[in-house]
Amino acid sequence: MSNYFAKRLTRRGKLLWVSICLVAIPIAAFAIQEISFKPGFNLYTPQQDVQLGGQNAAQIEKQMPMLHDAAVEGYITKLGRKLASYAPDNLPVYVWQYHVVNTNDINAFALPGGYIFVNRGTIVAAQDEAQLAGVIAHETGHVVMRHGTHQASEMAMARAAQIGLGFGVNSIFLHNSRGIEAQADEVGTYILYHAGYDPHAMAQFFQILQQKYPQQTIQFFSDHPNPGNRIKAVDQEIPLLGPPRKWITDTPEFESIKKRVESLPAPPPARH
Ligand SMILES: [Zn+2]
Repeated sequence: MSNYFAKRLTRRGKLLWVSICLVAIPIAAFAIQEISFKPGFNLYTPQQDVQLGGQNAAQIEKQMPMLHDAAVEGYITKLGRKLASYAPDNLPVYVWQYHVVNTNDINAFALPGGYIFVNRGTIVAAQDEAQLAGVIAHETGHVVMRHGTHQASEMAMARAAQIGLGFGVNSIFLHNSRGIEAQADEVGTYILYHAGYDPHAMAQFFQILQQKYPQQTIQFFSDHPNPGNRIKAVDQEIPLLGPPRKWITDTPEFESIKKRVESLPAPPPARH
């Protein structure tokens, strides 16, 4: 503001100017803080993600009991693809295929290239659609940040450096480090916010799972180790995403699919 302009302002005008600045500066700062997500170091191409993910998905479909129910798979696919459409770094090459594993254990996992598996037990444990969307949004985060092939790339580098590590490819894809988990949480929360779901739902559901179902979630928290202060990290991220909205928490579709899953014949006994 030039001196000339300042001199011409009345006292009332000055107050108004100060008020405008007080409002405008935080809005400007807010707009600058757009969160960006970057996939880590990777030796693979996104096309290879799809290829490797597809091979592993085919193996998993043979090894694990699958719930081939068109209504349930259709619902999960519709929900999953809606969430993926809000994901950062979503590439056209990703397949976004969804499968339901027929077990009461609570788990979900993602393979490179967009193959997402959700256990039957996870659908039953979710109290509303936002919680289920939270799990799928977290898995979507693993896909778009290319965590599977990122970890495989790091392993390859370690091997090249003569450090012997006895992990198979499958276990690299499925077992995530805590740092990777924190990033999947961040992306998952971002997706929930932009898809209109309560962005607190993901971290809250993970906490409920850990407290309420310690036995059914052993595999889940082995595949997705708690990065620590999950809720606090998400609470700090949410104000950066934008102003609060009227969130979706539940839908009639979720409630009817959950009832349907509960009414289906019991899953085959677990093969441990
Ligand atoms: Zn995870």
